Amino acid sequence: MRIAVFASDTDHSQLKKRELEKLIIEKGLTLDNQTPETVITIGGDGTLLSAFHRFVHRLDRIRFIGIHTGHLGFYTDWRDFELEELVDSLLEIVSHSVSYPLLEIKVTYCDDQEPKHFLALNECVIRRVTGTMRADVYIKDELFEQFRGDGLSVSTPTGSTAYNKSVGGAVLHPSVNALQLAEIASINNRVYRTLGSPLVIGQEEWIAIAVNELGQHMLSIDHLVMAEENVEKISYRVAQERIHFGGYRHNHFWTRVKDAFIK
Ligand code: NAP
Ligand code: MN
Repeated sequence: MRIAVFASDTDHSQLKKRELEKLIIEKGLTLDNQTPETVITIGGDGTLLSAFHRFVHRLDRIRFIGIHTGHLGFYTDWRDFELEELVDSLLEIVSHSVSYPLLEIKVTYCDDQEPKHFLALNECVIRRVTGTMRADVYIKDELFEQFRGDGLSVSTPTGSTAYNKSVGGAVLHPSVNALQLAEIASINNRVYRTLGSPLVIGQEEWIAIAVNELGQHMLSIDHLVMAEENVEKISYRVAQERIHFGGYRHNHFWTRVKDAFIK
């Protein structure tokens, strides 16, 4: 088995990375940062997001395993004192994989730029840099609403506990193959009227946000933030690709939600 270890920058994570790599070599497994079959992250959920984008071009061939060094994460279910146990049961962990939906994003421009394609594990957020954002929201090519406000977030089920939750979105179980659109500070008055609540679409549908003015928009895809000129439209759908996690530990989603937000 070819394994890549991907750690956050903290001294502690880097120390654990060296420990883990040593164990991997001792067990006769192979370290490979270019074409791994298993990617083990050490850090937080943000570390797993970075690893996801690093290996996004070969998701179908990778099982991710997250080790957390701080608080319990949504993508990290091993503790940093369990390295030995993890390496010993690696074959079993990767043979019990689970997969979760991803968000497919296509950005088109009103100048001659080529469209851009992205995949997100958590979400994509669009905002305008100066002033409020005005956009037409389409569902399955039909105009649904005219939005004015700070911005719009489209998230995956596993991303629903991240930014989406902070803007009042619902928490979605990752077995639901869907995406969620959530408003960020919409203006609702006699001129502008939006649904005013998050909405969830399934895999047969798609959402498009057609922006109504030129200028810069901030587009964030997971932890990556880009300033984009001349955006015309962003289209979203449930991606064909999925992320695969190794291990049975990833099942207790509602326990995780309770531990993170209630208890
Ligand atoms: P960060 O600023 O360190 O992340 C913000 C927090 O979100 C961290 O506590 C992070 O956990 C947590 N997080 C990430 N993915 C999550 C998920 N799926 N469910 C629940 N919590 C999650 O930046 P980052 O670590 O690079 O993560 C980027 C993500 O942060 C973005 O995708 C966005 O969802 C989220 N974010 C949230 C807000 C907000 O709620 N107002 C603002 C900006 C960004 P770890 O500490 O374990 O990394
Ligand atoms: Mn983080």
